[in-house]
Amino acid sequence: MKLTRTFIPTLREVPADAVIASHRLMFRAGMIRKLANGLFAYLPLGLRSLRKLEQIIREEMAAINSQEIKPTVVVPGEVWKESGRWEAMGDAMLRAKNRLGVDLVVSPTAEEAVTALVRDELSSYRQLPLSLYQINSKYRDEIRPRYGVMRGREFIMKDAYSYHTDEECLDKTYRDMGRAYRRVFRRCGLTVIPVQADSGAMGGSGSEEFMVESEIGDNTLLLCKSCDYAANVEKASCKPDFCPPAKPGTPLAIEAVGEEAVSTPVPETIYTPSVKTIEELCDFLKTDAKNFIKTLIYRAVNVELDLSAAPGCASLERRRPAPGAPELYPEAFFAVVIRGDLDVNEVKLAAILKAGELALAADTDVQRLTGAPVGFAGPVGLTGLPIIVDQTVTAMSDAVTGALAKDLHYRHVAYGRDFTGWMLSDIRTVKAGDHCSHCGAELYEKKGNELGHIFKLGYKYTRSMNVSYLDEHGKTRTPTMGSYGIGLDRTLASVIEEHHDGDGIIWPATLSPWHVIIVPIKYDGAVKATADTLEQELEQRGLEVLVDDRDERPGVKFKDADLVGIPFRVVVGDKNLAAAVPTVEIRRRGEGENRLVNTAAAADELAALLEAELAALNA
Ligand code: ATP
Ligand code: MG
Repeated sequence: MKLTRTFIPTLREVPADAVIASHRLMFRAGMIRKLANGLFAYLPLGLRSLRKLEQIIREEMAAINSQEIKPTVVVPGEVWKESGRWEAMGDAMLRAKNRLGVDLVVSPTAEEAVTALVRDELSSYRQLPLSLYQINSKYRDEIRPRYGVMRGREFIMKDAYSYHTDEECLDKTYRDMGRAYRRVFRRCGLTVIPVQADSGAMGGSGSEEFMVESEIGDNTLLLCKSCDYAANVEKASCKPDFCPPAKPGTPLAIEAVGEEAVSTPVPETIYTPSVKTIEELCDFLKTDAKNFIKTLIYRAVNVELDLSAAPGCASLERRRPAPGAPELYPEAFFAVVIRGDLDVNEVKLAAILKAGELALAADTDVQRLTGAPVGFAGPVGLTGLPIIVDQTVTAMSDAVTGALAKDLHYRHVAYGRDFTGWMLSDIRTVKAGDHCSHCGAELYEKKGNELGHIFKLGYKYTRSMNVSYLDEHGKTRTPTMGSYGIGLDRTLASVIEEHHDGDGIIWPATLSPWHVIIVPIKYDGAVKATADTLEQELEQRGLEVLVDDRDERPGVKFKDADLVGIPFRVVVGDKNLAAAVPTVEIRRRGEGENRLVNTAAAADELAALLEAELAALNA
């Protein structure tokens, strides 16, 4: 392919909003152009790399027997209403009405669309397991699209959906998918960190995200210094590191205190005027946040957990959003108690409560539920709402906590004696320096960018959307389901983040738009003839070749070749051709030295170099 016949509009200047390397380079190399905020067009150079990524994914999906389909991007709102996500998706989902007033959705993901398709075709257990995927555009009305295609509004996803008779079968496909994802990323030359992830409020028994380390990553990852534990902070757990009681010797149990307990009630009420925050309390009582029990009141929306036996919940409204969907509480309040030096992980909390959404309750609700202004909530004597206890609190036997009245706190509070909870769980936010729950070594943090996510969804969609099949005994059953996504644009941008230098992109051979760029010093005479012959020889060997046939100075051509990052550059010049043994110069992009190679042997040499690189990446 001659460069003058292509459309590769390279740029010297950088767009003002391009703050990360991949965004700058994708623009400058002429891979993409921006149509509007979050909307990008791929130009030929970008599309060639994108197609290669698609091909890698197709090969890896074929290897685990996932079949490609092409659903529509626009889907009826009806299927989203069936699953209950019509409301849950909120403004992220782009909706429209057609001329008949029918609700339509531009797919942000396709659990519903594919499940509706499968529902109509599935009749027998013999058709299962079934794994289907598409590589297709998605639209999410992201609040803040940024970093170019890293977070666009329209983007391309490979999304797969699998259906199974039982959990064991789902487990196998889930593992296969995880392995396939690792292979996809390895073939792209990417270093990914698979981490345990939150599987969402609506259940699901497992979820893994594939992260690349990145300064601009939205995710905090906790990694173990010693074993292979790695988790998104949303999911991470750690050793509880129970703290010893602050002041050994203070009364711990009523029985032990005997008569004295009457005159010195335990817990003891203390007057704490205008002291509300933990920091203020620490100053006031000259002690450490670790000796406080922090009590937070949360308001949760669409709670799936059964609260019929929970304090204060017997008369809560409960409803079923869609015929097959589970019953939900549209609104419920919870008290959460945790050691004063720790933070509540709201994602973990939402997962435990199976809540659609969760936030700190409004001051008026706190006042109503605790009988005290904000700052004086505590678990002792708190009735009327379920108390969720973080496991660290169970070891606290001499703590300070709010006394459910303005300006009052309790001290010498012990878990088990003075209060218990409705539920005991791990709800803390894990931090660097906490200890690994597997091996006890220290955890450290990294910032990560999510490229892929695999989920065991269970029955959420198949139940609400009434999918069924007949088992071998003729009994009607519901299949269990998994879903699996990779963002292609974000993957491509991440490859550039990992493979570039000050001059431009350095493509791994598997994703490069072309394998070889031939740069004739002047596209004329013997140089032109040699360049054209070499192009043909390389193409005969199956290599993809771009010839820079422009009438430009060599410096300009070299700069552009470096910018677009094609792995092998061949410079054809008069002087080298005129030597006793005619030669051309070969250079691997990203490596320093030019090498002179016998012109006649150049095609074989390049083919061998490329093959070795591809073999290493695809191994
Ligand atoms: P994020 O947390 O980054 O918003 P997500 O968890 O909502 O992503 P998933 O629903 O898991 O994304 O989608 C699967 C994959 O699609 C992601 O791993 C990511 O690679 C890609 N993806 C999601 N949103 C975008 C976007 N706005 N732009 C580009 N790629 C995206
Ligand atoms: Mg995700």
